Amino acid sequence: MSERSLIRVGVLGGGQLARMLALAGAPLGTKFLMLDTDANACGGQVAALMQADYRDLDALGRFAAQIDIATFDFENVPADSAAWLAERVPVFPNPRALGVAQDRMAEKSLFRGLGIGTPAFAAVDTLDQLRAAVEQIGLPSILKTRRLGYDGKGQFRLRQPADVEAAWAALAHGQPQASLILEAFVPFDSELSVVGVRGRDGEFRSYPLTRNWHHEGILSLSLAPAEVSDDIAARAVAHAQALADALDYVGVFALELFEQGGELLANEMAPRVHNSGHWTIEGAVSSQFENHLRAVLGLPLGDTATRGHSAMLNWIGALPDCAAALTVPGLHWHDYGKSARAGRKVGHATLRADSAAQLADALERAGQVLQRQPQVQPAIDALRG
Ligand code: AMP
Repeated sequence: MSERSLIRVGVLGGGQLARMLALAGAPLGTKFLMLDTDANACGGQVAALMQADYRDLDALGRFAAQIDIATFDFENVPADSAAWLAERVPVFPNPRALGVAQDRMAEKSLFRGLGIGTPAFAAVDTLDQLRAAVEQIGLPSILKTRRLGYDGKGQFRLRQPADVEAAWAALAHGQPQASLILEAFVPFDSELSVVGVRGRDGEFRSYPLTRNWHHEGILSLSLAPAEVSDDIAARAVAHAQALADALDYVGVFALELFEQGGELLANEMAPRVHNSGHWTIEGAVSSQFENHLRAVLGLPLGDTATRGHSAMLNWIGALPDCAAALTVPGLHWHDYGKSARAGRKVGHATLRADSAAQLADALERAGQVLQRQPQVQPAIDALRG
């Protein structure tokens, strides 16, 4: 019997997203090769992993020679490296989409151009520009690095005029120039995300909206489907589709939105599978990971309908007791195989139930068993209306 050749998928980045992509990819007949700067990246526990710098063209060449198609688990791969790779193998999403999502100014300018509301924002390169931007946008506001920020890192909240110097010092690191953006602080009612997928043929689908709670800038808990009006849901999905079409996007992405008094303001997009879509593994007919692979491989997209109601709890810093967690009915455990470290995403759990009331009961039980989950009570309150 001759050996069957599997489709070889390359992933730039070898973290938990690459790991969950590889796990979803096995039934589709794929074989993964990940490239990461860390030889111990957790994706390497389930698939082949190459350790290299993303700028190392020799390594990228060897990577390209071993794969049929490339995608990302990490959006901060240098856009030049993505473009270089795209000349050798098909790369999805395309490097332009990646480039836009890497820069908060480019991203918010595109949102505006598409008629998608955003918090007021201004580019800030110098301390004088920061002073002018604070005058224009007002306080409270948030100063962020334009690039390389994630999980609330590279951000400084300004509450009063005296914070200007401290904010500049925190993000410019003593340099006269820095590439920053000032955004109005949005006193949102809720944070929502649209996880969408667009196929190579332009077909677009989205999962029902997810409601997200953050703790110290990091996603803590998600509920899906979010309890929002049909009008808000339709506007959010239309924004996501407009964005995907404008970027000729292929694959899964997330659009993060603030909802305030029925108005939607876009915060950012993630050009990859997203933490707020992890509930889809057990909570949707086809998961975001399967759908990303279907899209980039040019296969028909899978059903994005939910299976009942889901909650996703992130394990930040360290894992709780797995055996205790598994006593909660309907709980699914995901250990990323990472070592414990403050602020690090090391795993998650999904709770799935047939109704919002049952999900609230399961979350209550999870809260009792696991104790230290900060956002469980607000989510229970949201579910019980
Ligand atoms: P980001 O890295 O931009 O996704 O920000 C992380 C989290 O900080 C968001 O999910 C919000 O909870 C909060 N945040 C960021 N920007 C704003 C804003 N302009 N107004 C209010 N909260 C914000």
